[in-house]
Amino acid sequence: MASANNTTQNENASITPKKSSKSSKDHTYDLDWIRNTNAKPFLSDSSHVLKKPITDHGCQKRLSKYNGVVNRMTSDQVNDELQKRQLSTNGEIEIRRLRLKHYYKAQLTFGCENPFQMIEQHFEYIAVVDFEATCNHNQGNNYPHEIIEFPIVLINVQQRMIVDKFQSYCRPTINPILSNFCTELTGIEQHQVDSAPTFPEVLRNAETWLNERHLLSSNKRKCGFATDGPWDFAKFLRMQCGFSSISYPRWAKKWINVRKEFSSFYAVQRCGISKMLQSLGLVFDGRNHSGLDDSINIARITIELMKDGCVLLLNDGIRAADPKFIDLNSVSHELQNLNEDETKHNDNLVILDR
Ligand code: AMP
Ligand code: MG
Repeated sequence: MASANNTTQNENASITPKKSSKSSKDHTYDLDWIRNTNAKPFLSDSSHVLKKPITDHGCQKRLSKYNGVVNRMTSDQVNDELQKRQLSTNGEIEIRRLRLKHYYKAQLTFGCENPFQMIEQHFEYIAVVDFEATCNHNQGNNYPHEIIEFPIVLINVQQRMIVDKFQSYCRPTINPILSNFCTELTGIEQHQVDSAPTFPEVLRNAETWLNERHLLSSNKRKCGFATDGPWDFAKFLRMQCGFSSISYPRWAKKWINVRKEFSSFYAVQRCGISKMLQSLGLVFDGRNHSGLDDSINIARITIELMKDGCVLLLNDGIRAADPKFIDLNSVSHELQNLNEDETKHNDNLVILDR
């Protein structure tokens, strides 16, 4: 492993950021300087440090100076710098620039050469869910979407790997016959839902599967649920629980909204799965709008986020009081039972219309 001094020299050799008039030495890449600031005590006492803004003035100045340098780099220079740090050179230029900036912020935070290794994730497992539901080409806002595919893709966070999956179709009861539009969109065929259990049984099976892996029970492993946007839980699951007259599951009250996290972490517009993958230099694996394939691809994005130093936390949830849920509240009597203190940290807007 290269020493801190070697790294400093090599890094300074290739990039020469504008010098501050107050400083005789350029500290931008100087790990010794970083270690001697009060950045570490400020920033390293929590496992989610990278979520917090850097409050130390000196570090803040270093960081914005470095960010300016990165903004002026050409694509090839960005790749050179990424390679020196053994970081991925995949993805669009904005993503690669952000990768470099996050790495430097982590260096300031931890004062070491491999700062991403110091980042502690909050969850041991992340379970990605992407429901498919009945639909039609001319459906209005009040279309009674029933869940017809329930997949779970399990990520082992430490291994940064998909380690398990659950998948079941569900038989709809309000509109038991799938529209051609729905079959074409999702690839789900009539015989697959005809031979499937109804949603309450599938939910029980999914919870049994999760319990067998100690992901729900009281001595549970730390597991967070993740979806692409708010719709899977806030719209489809809420609606379905109302139709089936069953309690809304506790585990789905808060979740990791991957689309939202992706947009804030890489400072890009919110976009769908294919576009997120494309930004990362990846292509969609499988069939779009297949619940299982969508879940696998959301999991791939989630893994890339973690590799780039993003700490994944619950960032979205059900807000019982949200006026956007009024029409859904009328179909789900359980929603009144949502605990206020479980929702009060949730100032995120949950949008129902897709
Ligand atoms: P997705 O996860 O994007 O595959 O979408 C989940 C569900 O949203 C689908 O199973 C459909 O019920 C509904 N949906 C998605 N896209 C459309 C669309 N273009 N038109 C109608 N419904 C859609
Ligand atoms: Mg889907």
